[in-house]
Amino acid sequence: MAIEHTISSVQQDSKKLIVHWDDQHQSVFHYLWLRDNCRCVDCGEPALGRKQFRITDVPLDLRLESVVVKDARRIEVVWENDRHKSTYTAQWLRQYCYSERARAQRRHRPVLWDSRIAKDLPQVNYAAVLATDAERLRMLGRVRDYGFCLVKNVPPRRGELETFAASLGVIVETDSGRIFEILLKSGEDIKSVAHLNSDLIPHHDDSYRTTFPSIIFFHCLVAGDNGSGQSVYVDGLQIAECLRREEPEAFALLSHYAVPFCKQQGGQIHMQARSPLIHLDSEGNITGVRISNLFVAPLDLPEMIVEPFYRAYRKLMDYYTARQYQLMLDLCPGDLIILDNHRVLHGRTTINAENQDRHLRHCYGDRDYLYSQWRTLNQSRALHTLEDQ
Ligand SMILES: [Zn+2]
Repeated sequence: MAIEHTISSVQQDSKKLIVHWDDQHQSVFHYLWLRDNCRCVDCGEPALGRKQFRITDVPLDLRLESVVVKDARRIEVVWENDRHKSTYTAQWLRQYCYSERARAQRRHRPVLWDSRIAKDLPQVNYAAVLATDAERLRMLGRVRDYGFCLVKNVPPRRGELETFAASLGVIVETDSGRIFEILLKSGEDIKSVAHLNSDLIPHHDDSYRTTFPSIIFFHCLVAGDNGSGQSVYVDGLQIAECLRREEPEAFALLSHYAVPFCKQQGGQIHMQARSPLIHLDSEGNITGVRISNLFVAPLDLPEMIVEPFYRAYRKLMDYYTARQYQLMLDLCPGDLIILDNHRVLHGRTTINAENQDRHLRHCYGDRDYLYSQWRTLNQSRALHTLEDQ
């Protein structure tokens, strides 16, 4: 549970309210921000999609007529322009404080990993996930922190994948269908490289789509134990951060210039999308990675950039094909892995003759639903804690 802070005092200037807290922390709230976040019945609740207040309803030089602190736990203000009254609880203000420190504390910090994660895998047991919300929450937290979670002992039979994936939101259907059977095939059945026995370079799926699937589920039904057809996973955030640290110019190119991706199939499908391989937010944090050597269309770059871009692109490929960054896993029957397809790359080693019956099933999900479930479970647990006290 977050500590509930109280307000020691407030100060005003012409544009903002300065709040001093019991723990010496200080928050600044601009009047425009406060007015925009009034949650009274008239202004409406944005979490319900019912916000009525518009920022154009007030002047830019908005001022306060009065401000009162009640019981150190509530601030009541009256606005000068229209005498509208707004109330903010201390808890709410502290939760949304936008000081540099508070913003840094709020930011989720993913746990970056390399091949050494094999010693301590993020994993859960299926029966435990079904039994308690706490274990389900732990599983979702692992996906959020590590970009993947291995679920052990999911019965290796058809239907289990669908049930499990649907319990985490929706199954996302693509042009290839809803559920994919990964079996070695020959002749006309081959629709994807996954159906061949050759090795697969680590990649993100469906890079050629503007909004590409964010979650992948793989469920292993049949696999030999001779070490062939091993699954390979790479933390895209890790290799991007390594590139930033060791080759800043390469990182700058790959996070700036878009790469075209394209898929054409049978005269029916022609998809294309352009995207930088590394996505940054306005503060330079890496928000996602999109890598697929399998579907890269001819690069379309300014002439001066072509050579340096290829240098950078090779460097990145060196990272994600290097053993030190790869988690090698022998998926066993009953293993199900949840992957963040905007972060973790997946691939496979060659499948040899003794492992020809290997059978994986996979489908796509949507990260927004997984995180929504993570938030709601987190919230209800927090309420329970409150009730317990
Ligand atoms: Zn209001």
